[in-house]
Amino acid sequence: MDMLINGTAAHAAEETWIEVKNPATGEFIDRVPRGSREDVNAAVEAADAAFGAWAEKTTRDRGLILYHAAALIRRDHKALAELLTREQGKPIRESTDEVRGCANILEYYASIAGMPAGENISLGKAGDCLVTRVPLGVCGAIIPWNMPVIIMGWKVGPALLAGNTLVLKPASATPLTNLRIAGLMQEAGLPAGVLNVVTGPGEITGAALVRHPQIKKISFTGDCATGYRIREMADSHLAALTLELGGSDPMIVMADADIPKAVEGALRGRFYNAGQICTAVKRLYLHEKIAEEFMRLLTAKTEGLAVGNGLAPGTDMGPLNSAEQLGRISSVIRETTEREEGTIRAGGCPLTGPGFDKGFFYKPTLIAGVAPDAEILNNEIFGPVLPVVTVPDLSAAIREANHSKYGLGASVWTRDLATVKQVYREVHAGIIWVNRHLTVPPEVPFGGTNESGIGRENGSKALDSYTQSKTLYLGW
Ligand code: NDP
Repeated sequence: MDMLINGTAAHAAEETWIEVKNPATGEFIDRVPRGSREDVNAAVEAADAAFGAWAEKTTRDRGLILYHAAALIRRDHKALAELLTREQGKPIRESTDEVRGCANILEYYASIAGMPAGENISLGKAGDCLVTRVPLGVCGAIIPWNMPVIIMGWKVGPALLAGNTLVLKPASATPLTNLRIAGLMQEAGLPAGVLNVVTGPGEITGAALVRHPQIKKISFTGDCATGYRIREMADSHLAALTLELGGSDPMIVMADADIPKAVEGALRGRFYNAGQICTAVKRLYLHEKIAEEFMRLLTAKTEGLAVGNGLAPGTDMGPLNSAEQLGRISSVIRETTEREEGTIRAGGCPLTGPGFDKGFFYKPTLIAGVAPDAEILNNEIFGPVLPVVTVPDLSAAIREANHSKYGLGASVWTRDLATVKQVYREVHAGIIWVNRHLTVPPEVPFGGTNESGIGRENGSKALDSYTQSKTLYLGW
């Protein structure tokens, strides 16, 4: 599949390629151009040329194109979901959710097309001010491989609705569905140059995009270390930034919780997308009164998960996305076991044997009896591994939940309003769920505090972040 620059399929300036393979089978799916700095420059030039006319359209006209694009995504959702599963690995049910979720996001932004409102300021005798919201210009979006379709929606929807043009860099492991959706957006009436997609290694095309002096804003989702480097590069020309850098979300289950519901919440919260989600449940804190019963139920459910090729019907969890991911998760478990930080209650090793030998499969894993200060709790575990800590009371749970450099999401499972109030006030996170975890509909602002990043995606906050104010001062 080719890149998309100025509305046409583009090869790389130098014709070399990146192969995209299925993480469940190792099968070759397609190849994309290994783009270069010249390709990024061409894409930024195209986006710059398209900016004036796009920004002059009414927001409602731009919203209509997003709405038509959502309809085309719905029309093609089966093919898109299958492509996503083949390049990313997740079960087809999850890919279908994700593709429909992208359509939901575009429809949501179309529906709030009247929102980017300004203000009037009366200065008495000194005059009046009219403050409008204007787009920033050419923006850049860098997409990771874990939820490439939803995250594309989060960046493309508000950026384009606000009147900006965009250059998007997909992850090298999962560029295909992003390219297919960009093609559908063209089909929906997006003018040439408004959305450009440049494939290629992050170190080259991603870095060239961030460093480009004409880029007014970068929205990045991915690793913390990459985020820090992007900040440095963007600072060189004062580009605005949204950084979504992951998390280590705590889930707190109190003694009064609906236990079967909370068990389902932990199962889905940790093992959805093989645990490769920034806001997955990454640390489970159980009140000591229910810990034993909870672990008995959770262990049985975890062992019952069907792991396999995401295309096979009935698969609950697919492979990890790459050999690197498998290596990272294997090391986490090896080191945790060596340090004797807990007891493996389920999984704890890769899945091998017929049907698994060419893919990156890891068993869904539970580690019980983890001490609150254990090393395993200090870093984001981006895979199907759940460390479980028993706590004596809510204060201890909150103290441990806050013992993290991240602050993306957190959940509390309880029937008690006072507990909810205390968790909402005291836990450091961008979103606190009560009796659920993970769900982020398009209306809900998403983003974290501390090292989880800067800014918000989703909802009207994201739309604001793709505009700036411009003031007309009437001196009368
Ligand atoms: P990266 O941060 O390297 O990749 C995310 C995106 O950034 C990809 O499109 C990548 O391109 C691009 N990129 C990489 N280097 C640069 C750079 N110097 N300048 C600009 N763009 C760049 O994450 P990894 O794929 O290496 O995953 C590593 C770990 O990051 C995971 O194990 C997980 O812990 C975390 N992660 C967190 C995510 C989240 O949702 N918060 C999402 C993905 C990963 P390319 O694919 O070509 O390298």
